[in-house]
Amino acid sequence: MALSRMDLDGKGAGSPEGLVTLILKAAPHLTVPIPIEGLARQLDIGEIQEFDTEEGFEGGLITDTARSRGVILTRRSHPFRRRFTIGHELGHFLIPTHMPDVPGRFLCSREDMRRLSATENDRRGRMEVEANRFASLILMPPPLLRPYLKQRRDPDVGHMAQLAAEFEVSKQAMANAYAHYQDEILAFVFTKGGRVLFPYKHLKFPFITVRSGQAVPDGSLLKRRGARNGVASDVCGCVPDIWIDVKGGKPAPQLYEQVLGQRDGFAIVMLWLEPAEEGEEEDRDSERTAKERFREQQARYR
Ligand SMILES: [Zn+2]
Repeated sequence: MALSRMDLDGKGAGSPEGLVTLILKAAPHLTVPIPIEGLARQLDIGEIQEFDTEEGFEGGLITDTARSRGVILTRRSHPFRRRFTIGHELGHFLIPTHMPDVPGRFLCSREDMRRLSATENDRRGRMEVEANRFASLILMPPPLLRPYLKQRRDPDVGHMAQLAAEFEVSKQAMANAYAHYQDEILAFVFTKGGRVLFPYKHLKFPFITVRSGQAVPDGSLLKRRGARNGVASDVCGCVPDIWIDVKGGKPAPQLYEQVLGQRDGFAIVMLWLEPAEEGEEEDRDSERTAKERFREQQARYR
């Protein structure tokens, strides 16, 4: 792998998407799991050090104004999370418009690493969102991820967790990418002790009405049947309005749930939406297709 920052001078080098495209072009033989530390070193990160002095910070980057070299700091944490932190800080290092609050030193919190959106005039927030997008794209490059997603015809929360292990990323990071690049309209809701923590969803997935901190809805698969550690449930249909707003007078979409139990009371709920097509009341065919699909699912998971 012969990669250097000279390769990143091309068009698009100002955005996470452009940078990752240039990196993949210069290093076309990258395989999964992406060797993020090796990549960082080739791109002028001299050292990757552990730090534990700054309370509440997950990662940091020390560099000069000209960005000639950089040192990435990571908190001692799970190796997969540490890989994301390295990707995030490498993003700050490579995106030319990213400017730290304190000259030469970026410090990023756990919350920064989770940010997926920021308002137009929140400059710092937008930097964090871009660094996260860079980390996600470099650790799970879409051209390398897509063949894995095609291993299964239908989305599956157990498959998502398995891909997280193969790509050496956290389940949160993979859930976000899986919801984005899978062809179906999906959301993954992370829960603990029967309460919603945060969702990751496809752009077309509607607003989830159960907010962070609230109990998972009555009637949801997790509430009804619970979750077993490491075991993915069947895919089951549910009443869609327990999770999303369904407008009265319009044909209701189909919503399916699948639950994967985790250690310590954590569970991941996959929501899979099949939107109602306009004029579905008359269109018996599309209704039948959705039902057939559901039955097929049931048969396969039995
Ligand atoms: Zn950051």
